[in-house]
Parts: sequence; C-alpha cells; structure tokens
Amino acid sequence: MPYCVECGGEYEPGVDRCPDCDSQLVETMPPENPDADPDATLVEVYSSPGDTEALIIKGLLESEGIICSLSSDVPHSVVPIEIDGLGAVRISVSDADAERAVEIISRSQKEGN
Ligand SMILES: [Zn+2]
Repeated sequence: MPYCVECGGEYEPGVDRCPDCDSQLVETMPPENPDADPDATLVEVYSSPGDTEALIIKGLLESEGIICSLSSDVPHSVVPIEIDGLGAVRISVSDADAERAVEIISRSQKEGN
C-alpha cells in the first residue's frame, strides 16, 4: 500500500506521488512505527494482578526500547484501564522482543521492589 511519509496518508496501489504534499510515496510504513505493523506477533510475557504493577513494567520495558501493549480481562469500554484491582492485566510485546522482556521483568523482580 503506497504511503506518504509527509502526511501519513495511504493511497491506492498505482499512485506514486501524494496529491497533497507532492512527495514520493513509499511502499511500507517507516520503521519508527513498529506498533503499527500489522505483521507483528504479540507474545504475552507477563500477567499482572493490577494496573499499577502493569504500568511500572510497561515503563521499564519502554525504557529498554521495547514497545508493549497492555490488555485486561475487563473490557475497556466498561471499566477504564486506570481503575486498579479489577482483573489481571496482561503485558504483550512483539515476539522479537519477548525473550529480552522476560529477562528484564524477572531481573526487576529479583532486585525486589
Ligand atoms: Zn502527503
């Protein structure tokens, strides 16, 4: 799918310049958006009993350059993610980062909180 790096617009195959920016379209998303990659496989690396711990681990992983996503058993449309103590929160990372993420999490837990 041709994609404009200037405005982020996607165009039909066969279009090679962005009509808005007059910029050359590229075939793939730029690598600085790995979380937008539909081919990335997410692997669950940790299940936290609450949002607070999940957010700490998320920050830890992101400080190591690992992008992660949180998911909860409780639908977000009903219960906002900010509310603590309602169901487990699962932390997933792309499979390429999974091994390193598990290491980082277990290291932080050995060090103690
Ligand atoms: Zn454009």
